[in-house]
Amino acid sequence: MTARFITCPSCRQEEPLGDLEVPERGRLYACGTCDHVWTLRREAIVQAAVTEQAPDATAANVVLPAATRPRRRFIILLAAASVAACCVAGAWLYLHARAAAPEVYPERPLMIIDPTIEANASGNAVTVEFHVENPNARTKTFEQACVSLIDESGHSAFRWCSDGTRRDLGAHSRLSISFDVLNPPARVRNLEIQVR
Ligand SMILES: [Zn+2]
Repeated sequence: MTARFITCPSCRQEEPLGDLEVPERGRLYACGTCDHVWTLRREAIVQAAVTEQAPDATAANVVLPAATRPRRRFIILLAAASVAACCVAGAWLYLHARAAAPEVYPERPLMIIDPTIEANASGNAVTVEFHVENPNARTKTFEQACVSLIDESGHSAFRWCSDGTRRDLGAHSRLSISFDVLNPPARVRNLEIQVR
């Protein structure tokens, strides 16, 4: 590709002529650098080859427009600020919750203490007795105690549950429960007791 150039006779600055028409007799021309005005004639025009710079569009060479870069930086700053704010708020809530909440001891289940099963004199009944103990530092409530007598073959041959009356058991205290089983299984292998 070629382009037309002229050289200013005053300042010797070379500049492209573009597609400006120059008639046979010449035309007045003002230098873009020094404002010198002279009569430009066709014979003063130089044709010179120019290499066209192909725009390189590979990803590595793409430069974001200047207007985009500060915006991206702003978004990154905003994200960083949000993360920092969340961390601070989270830490504050954690510390605040720790300070405000009373120390909570793990809740422990009610315990069955010393279960016994004893045959009476006539042999047609047994007495089952056990104690329910509250190992916690505050009162716990339970509604039922259930007892199973497991016979020799491993089956539950008898099951008894107290009525569903709610009972409060004070902190670190125990109560005794006993009842009679008429016609109990011939041989009791195990006693299963649950409190709920
Ligand atoms: Zn000039």
